[in-house]
Amino acid sequence: MGRPMCYRCFWPQALCWCGSIVPMPTRTRFVFLMHPEEFKHTKAATGRLTHLCLADSVIHMGIEFDAHEAVQALIRDPANYPVVLYPARDAVDLSRTELPAPDLGGRRLTVFLLDATWRLARRMWKASPSLQQLPKVMFSGAAPSRYVIKTQPEPGCLSTLEATHELLLALDRRGLDRYARPEQLLDLFRRMQDLQLRFAEESHRLGRRRHTPRPKRADGVAAPVPGPKRRRIFPRAASAPAGEG
Ligand SMILES: [Zn+2]
Repeated sequence: MGRPMCYRCFWPQALCWCGSIVPMPTRTRFVFLMHPEEFKHTKAATGRLTHLCLADSVIHMGIEFDAHEAVQALIRDPANYPVVLYPARDAVDLSRTELPAPDLGGRRLTVFLLDATWRLARRMWKASPSLQQLPKVMFSGAAPSRYVIKTQPEPGCLSTLEATHELLLALDRRGLDRYARPEQLLDLFRRMQDLQLRFAEESHRLGRRRHTPRPKRADGVAAPVPGPKRRRIFPRAASAPAGEG
């Protein structure tokens, strides 16, 4: 079973508002690199909606991008100035310093954003050395996440939508772009939080219902209930020595 979905924004059709989004043109090109898992977890995904808000954006799905033709073509294209949003050690922290206005020399700023949970984004990063070689920008969390539902695992981890918003503000301040509709992304963010609250309440109610007395087996012992599915935070070591753990 499942509720009918909008195949544009991948939200339940009954809750979809993507028809009211007005795509905003930007000088900068935004490239969302979406982990396949993020595509499945639509409740937490902001990348697709952010993409719908930006006329000059694309989504590429994948885990490693060194052999991804469209992504590599964007990196190689001499008409582009590619940068990646990632909290690497040598990233320019836009929460503390202004974006250095690079001499674009007529090139087009092309920003790659990893759209995934922090754990999966790190894997994509490690699997794509060609991204690691690009100039990096990040936010250290001076502008804290507006997320109240999904607690961000580390300071500076913004949702894709928030990161895009902050980046556009920074680009606008430096005269590198014109951020025409900040209210659209922020409004989208508020609406999404409302929806997430609704989902949370809904699953809370369902959870309560699930805790009504369990069916008894013939011998009077309560039947075992499968434990909750947990998302593992850290991948198990590939080859743990036998006898350990
Ligand atoms: Zn929709």
